[in-house]
Amino acid sequence: MTCGGWAGLAVLCAFLGMPETASAFRTLTDEPNLVDAGADGQPIGWTRWPVEFEVYEQAADPIDGAATWTALEAAIQIWDRSDCAIGSLAATAMASEPARLGDGRNTVQWVHSGWSSLDKPDAVAITQNQYQIKVDQFSLIEADIYINADKTLPDPIDWNADMLAHLDGVLAHELGHALGLAHPCELRGDNGAPRCGSVPMSLMHPQYDPRAFALTADDNEGACWLYPDAAPRQEVEVDTGCSVAHAGAKGDRSRLAWWALAALALVRGRFRRAGFWAAV
Ligand SMILES: [Zn+2]
Repeated sequence: MTCGGWAGLAVLCAFLGMPETASAFRTLTDEPNLVDAGADGQPIGWTRWPVEFEVYEQAADPIDGAATWTALEAAIQIWDRSDCAIGSLAATAMASEPARLGDGRNTVQWVHSGWSSLDKPDAVAITQNQYQIKVDQFSLIEADIYINADKTLPDPIDWNADMLAHLDGVLAHELGHALGLAHPCELRGDNGAPRCGSVPMSLMHPQYDPRAFALTADDNEGACWLYPDAAPRQEVEVDTGCSVAHAGAKGDRSRLAWWALAALALVRGRFRRAGFWAAV
């Protein structure tokens, strides 16, 4: 059942122990291309902690790198309030190179031209995730976050003071994608997602209101589905190079995926401008 139509009520329901809200969260596992790739409903998340982000500064950015960094840290703190993503994310350094998927670094940067090659013109930001497949186990290995500052677009995003004041919320939404969460719904039901009509607002909602950015019970539930072990994050993955057989390996694909690390770029994480200022 639906406990409430807006985030505050959903959180209240959780605290009061009222009947459980039907989960709306979706993850990369629900993405059709990953279903086709054989994700088989497994959580697709990071295995190395913390996931460290760098900020790449350019002279044309609406704010300087330090201010972008501050917004990023505030966004990280939003996820630190979750039960299962505490300490998962960190802002570590200023990047010396621009973002490039496949470089092994997680970069946050403003985009001043060519936005249309990344996403639709009305998208405020986008996250590009890269994952790998090892013996049928999918995991995230890189995430780059791009913020739309392309003034060559027909109707460019106006990064005025009000917009900039909500940059932390925008980045928190994108960090949710970086963690492996997808939108709980899509406006037109794209990618097999339910239409957003009755789906409650959340941080990961594609039309969330930045004036009320906050982690909801559904966002938290999604994070805990991806990362059920809430212990402090630490680096746990060690590649030994051994090649033991994988029980239940699935034919050709798993053999091909064995140390080849079938790293596939997945572009997901649209944050649509259409509802950016929609009232809750
Ligand atoms: Zn999004």
